[in-house]
Amino acid sequence: VSTAITMKGTRAEKEQEAPALSQAEQNKQSMQEVRRSLPIFPYREDLLAAIQEHQILVIEGETGSGKTTQIPQYLLENGYTEGGMKIGCTQPRRVAAMSVASRVAQEMSVKLGNEVGYSIRFEDCTSERTVLKYMTDGMLLREFLTEPDLASYSVIIIDEAHERTLHTDILFGLIKDIARFRPDLKVLVASATLDTERFSCFFDEAPVFRIPGRRFPVDIFYTKAPEADYLEACVVSVLQIHVTQAPGDCLVFLTGQEEIEACCEMLQERCRRLGSKIAELLVLPIYANLPSDMQAKIFNPTPPGARKVVVATNIAETSLTIDGIIYVIDPGFCKQKSYNARTGMESLIVTPCSRASANQRAGRAGRVAAGKCFRLYTAWAFKHEMEETTSLGEANTDIQLMDHICLAGINDLIHFDFMDPPPHETLVLALEQLYALGALNHLGELTKLGRRMAELPVDPMLSKMILASEQYKCSEEVLTIAAMLSVNNSIFYRPKDKVVHADNARMNFVVPGGDHLVLLNVYTQWLESGYSTQWCYENFIQFRSMRRARDVRDQLEGLMDRIEVEVVSSQGDSLPIRKAVTAGYFYHTARLSKGGYKTVKHQQTVYVHPNSSLFEEQPRWLIYHELVFTTKEFMRQVIEIDSGWLLEVAPHYYKSKELEDSSSKKMPRKQGKTKEELG
Ligand code: ADP
Ligand code: MG
Repeated sequence: VSTAITMKGTRAEKEQEAPALSQAEQNKQSMQEVRRSLPIFPYREDLLAAIQEHQILVIEGETGSGKTTQIPQYLLENGYTEGGMKIGCTQPRRVAAMSVASRVAQEMSVKLGNEVGYSIRFEDCTSERTVLKYMTDGMLLREFLTEPDLASYSVIIIDEAHERTLHTDILFGLIKDIARFRPDLKVLVASATLDTERFSCFFDEAPVFRIPGRRFPVDIFYTKAPEADYLEACVVSVLQIHVTQAPGDCLVFLTGQEEIEACCEMLQERCRRLGSKIAELLVLPIYANLPSDMQAKIFNPTPPGARKVVVATNIAETSLTIDGIIYVIDPGFCKQKSYNARTGMESLIVTPCSRASANQRAGRAGRVAAGKCFRLYTAWAFKHEMEETTSLGEANTDIQLMDHICLAGINDLIHFDFMDPPPHETLVLALEQLYALGALNHLGELTKLGRRMAELPVDPMLSKMILASEQYKCSEEVLTIAAMLSVNNSIFYRPKDKVVHADNARMNFVVPGGDHLVLLNVYTQWLESGYSTQWCYENFIQFRSMRRARDVRDQLEGLMDRIEVEVVSSQGDSLPIRKAVTAGYFYHTARLSKGGYKTVKHQQTVYVHPNSSLFEEQPRWLIYHELVFTTKEFMRQVIEIDSGWLLEVAPHYYKSKELEDSSSKKMPRKQGKTKEELG
C-alpha cells in the first residue's frame, strides 16, 4: 500500500512542477494515438452496437486493422467484464497469443498477467485479476472440460478463424452448441478475409461486420525462371533490396525454424563480409519456438539509416503485423503437416503455398506505404502450379486429432457438428486410442482417469505415462522425462566442425535401458551443475532447450497437486520408470525382426534411429516415442522393455498369445468391445 501512495504522490508533484510529459506518459499518449489511427477505430460504435444486437457476429477485416488488439479492449471499455466476467480471445498460434497479449497490456498500461494475460501450452500467464485472456484454441478446449458452459466468459472471440485447424473446428461446434443455451454469451468470429460467408452460414446466418481495409498498391515481381535453391535466392534478394532500394523494412517468408536460422546466418555472414560498404542490416527471425524475448524484438522500431529484415514462418501472413514493412520476399512455400492415421506416421512436407496465401503475403508490403513483393517463382507457376486456397481436408487429418483428449469432452464425436468433418477413420482411431489408454469407457464417455489425464496439457500418451508414475513411485523422474521429450530433439548440439567431440560428449551420457533414461541423465547432471550454462557448453548440450525443459517441468510439477499425484523418486531404480513409460506408450511397441523392427500394432517395418543409445544393442522389445521418416522409417527416442509388462499395463489391449516371440503374423487389435473385455 505504501508504495502505491508514494507513487501517486510523486506523480502529483511532477505534474505540478514539470508540465512536460514524462517519457512514459508520452509513450502512453502516442500509443493512444496509434490506437485511434487503426482502421477499426472509426467503426468502434457501430461494432459495439452490432455486438449488442446480435449474439453471434462474424467480423471481417484486413490484417493489421486492429481486430485482435482492439475489439477486446472496446468490449472491456463497454462493461463486458463487469461482475468479474472474462473476455476470451483464441489464437491458432502460441506466438500470436503471447505477443498480442503483451501488446494489449502495454496499451492498457497494465502488467502482463494481471488484467490482461495469456494461456498457452506449458505457460499460464494469467491471474485471478485477468479479464482479457488471449489463448490458443487448444487451451480454450481444455477449459470446456472443467467449465462446459464457459460460465465465466461474457464474450468468446474466435480469432483468425480462417486459419482453420481441427481445434478451431471443434471450437466452432462446441460454441455453437453453448450459444443456444447461454443467450447472454456473445460470440465473435474474426477473420482476415475469404471464408466469412461460410462462417456466417455455419452459425445460422450470423451477420457479417466488415471493416474496410486500407491498402497501398503493391508491385509484384516474378522470377524469369524457377529458382533451384530458394534459400540462396532469398539471401541474394534481401541483399539486393538492401543495396539498391529506398528505405523500408523487409519481410521474408520461409517454412520453418531450421530454414529461418540458416537464412539469418547466411545474411549475417555476408553482411559481415561486406562490412562498412553497406548500411546496417538488422536480421531478426520469428518462429513458434523462438524465446519470447527474441520474438519481441521484431516489433522494435528500426533505427534511422538501418534496415530491418524479418525472416518469418507464415505466422507473419495474418497473425502478426509488423509495422514498416515495404518489401516482401516470397519463395512460395509453406510446410504442411500430413498425418497418416493408419501408420501413425507424421511428416512435415514443404509444399507450394496457395495463391490466397501468396496474395496475403504480398499484402504485408502495402500496409504503411506503396510496397513491392518479390516472388521467387514464375508468373506461370503462380497461375498454374498453385492451388487457389489451402485445402482444409488435409489439415483435418492432422495428428492433433490424436493429440487431444479434448475430443473426449464431446459426447457424440461421430455425429458432432463439424464445419468440415474429419475422415471417419481418423475419428474412430482417435477414440480407439483413448479407449485403449483407459481415458474413455465403452460408451465413449470420459472416465475418471480420462478427466485426470485431461488436466495435463500434453498428449494422452504422455499424460497417461505421468499418471502411471504414481503407481510405480517414480513421478520425479517421469516428470523430467516428459519435459525433456517435450522439447523435441534439440537437446544435443552437434556443430558441423566438431562432430567428433559432440558425439563423444553424447556417448558420455549413455546409461543402460534407453534414450528416455539418457535424457533423464542429462537433466539430472545439468541440475547438479546448478543449471549451468558453462556445463551445457562443455557437454554439447543446448542451453536454450534445457531451460525450456525446466520451464515445462515446473509447469507440469505445478499441476501434480491438482491431479493428486505425489512427486516421489524411484531412488535410482530404472525399472519402475520404464514401466511407467510402457503404461503410456504401449501403443508404440516394436519387436525385433529380421534386419529391423516391426511395430506390433501395424506390422510396419521400422528402424532404431542412428542417434539412439540402443542403436548397436538392438534389444528384442522396444517402445518408441515417435516415428519419423527421413531416409527410412525411424523410431526416435526408444526404451527397452520386457514384453511381459505389456500384459501388466494394458491387459485389455494385449493378449499373451500375441506377445509370444515366435512372431505370429496377426496384429493385436482390439477385439471389438465384447462384454468380457469391458467387465
Ligand atoms: P488484426 O488483428 O486486425 O490483424 P492487430 O490488432 O493484431 O490487427 O494489430 C493492430 C496494430 O497493432 C498493428 O498494425 C500494429 O501496429 C499493432 N501491433 C499489434 N501487435 C503488436 C506488437 N506485438 N507490438 C507492437 N505493435 C503491435
Ligand atoms: Mg489479428
